[in-house]
Amino acid sequence: MSYVDEVLERVKTKNAAEPEFLQAVEEVLESIRPVVEANEELYRKEAILERITEPDRQFKFRVAWVDDNGQAQVNTGYRVQFNNAIGPYKGGLRLHPSVYLGIIKFLGFEQVFKNSLTGLPIGGGKGGSDFDPKGKSDREVMAFCQSFMTELYKYIGADVDVPAGDIGTGAREIGYLYGQYKRITRLYEGVLTGKGLTYGGSLARTEATGYGLLYMTEELLKSHGQDMAGKTCVVSGAGNVAIYAIQKAHQLGAKCVTCSDSTGWIYDPEGIDVDLLKEVKEVKRARLTEYAAARPSAEYHEGRGVWSVKCDVALPCATQNELLIDDAKALVANGCIAVCEGANMPTTLDATQYLQENGVYFVPGKAANAGGVATSALEMSQNSERLSWTFEEVDAKLKDIMVNIYHNIDDAAKRYGKEGNYVAGANIAGFEKVVDAMLAQGVC
Ligand code: NDP
Repeated sequence: MSYVDEVLERVKTKNAAEPEFLQAVEEVLESIRPVVEANEELYRKEAILERITEPDRQFKFRVAWVDDNGQAQVNTGYRVQFNNAIGPYKGGLRLHPSVYLGIIKFLGFEQVFKNSLTGLPIGGGKGGSDFDPKGKSDREVMAFCQSFMTELYKYIGADVDVPAGDIGTGAREIGYLYGQYKRITRLYEGVLTGKGLTYGGSLARTEATGYGLLYMTEELLKSHGQDMAGKTCVVSGAGNVAIYAIQKAHQLGAKCVTCSDSTGWIYDPEGIDVDLLKEVKEVKRARLTEYAAARPSAEYHEGRGVWSVKCDVALPCATQNELLIDDAKALVANGCIAVCEGANMPTTLDATQYLQENGVYFVPGKAANAGGVATSALEMSQNSERLSWTFEEVDAKLKDIMVNIYHNIDDAAKRYGKEGNYVAGANIAGFEKVVDAMLAQGVC
């Protein structure tokens, strides 16, 4: 049995109850097969694949807090420190009822390769809780965040592990978490990113993931002789990534005609009104029905359906496994030319393969959404030097990073005879750097 197959079997047996983690490991190991085969003896001897698929450590803890009725509530908190071969652990905190260890491990594993692709010195980690901030008062969110940080602070630090936002963790949550960290440790340091601008946050961090996704998409199209201007895009999600992806797509002359949340979706043939979407989602924290109510050109539909709309470019920006095989078929049938993932692993493995086999340019999240963590790393740099860069400076660096990532993954795919396969290119390029560092640092 080949080394890849051996390790895949082993990972499946050890993590049988974590399908999302297995899906992520399978995707990565399958696509780095040629690299492993070229170095099989060394990697086997050094147990590279066993080490890279086993987190350095993982923490699971009780988070007790009191709700507005005086009732004590209990959630579970997680932090998985996956791999720090190239820098301190870095990765967001997801607050969503679906969170369990398997989700955090899948995200942490992906983060290792994504962070490597940014070209910046950051390792991979991820955390979160099954706490649902939806429908909670600010005081309840603060109580949860303070309790969560009272345990988490023991494991993190500006040079150790630097968490950030993710689904359910936005500016409000990061603020409460940072306040509690500072209160306990007395340290004013860059231990979290996505901070507010008055206390160490970076300009352009809020926009970074969505903007970065579009810089990558633009470069992809450019290298295939096309342009974003005039393209019709379908977008899923209506959160941080989706909002700023839509904004940048419009700045580049494209038109985004859909967005969605966990209950329904909008079709707006005149193009999504970003200011209205921000008002509904960022200010009112309301459902998309409110968007439709305020916008005569918009239709609201219950359930899922954005991928059925005719488009040139599809940008999944909500959550994992939201673009399925039938969606991929609909996109191909409607003439879609590119799918670039803003979310983490939104496309299932069979849907990805279908898109690739049918000539759709497909860029996986670990490359296409890396602008968020890259800008977080820029926030860390600014915190370390106690300076703040201008929006334009950060945005220009972000654009450079995304363009570099595109060429890096394109080159890696070509080196292994997989031209145009950006999944393979991203996994190979991300993996090569981490493995180099692991080999240099010995067995640990
Ligand atoms: P937000 O919480 O801001 O928004 C998430 C959006 O997706 C919301 O519209 C939400 O709907 C929808 N959504 C969440 N879960 C589901 C579900 N199970 N089914 C359908 N819709 C769902 O998160 P972000 O925009 O920050 O993150 C989106 C994705 O991008 C995630 O995969 C995240 O890991 C990834 N990502 C985020 C980065 C960042 O910088 N924020 C960086 C890199 C990746 P509702 O409003 O109803 O909850």
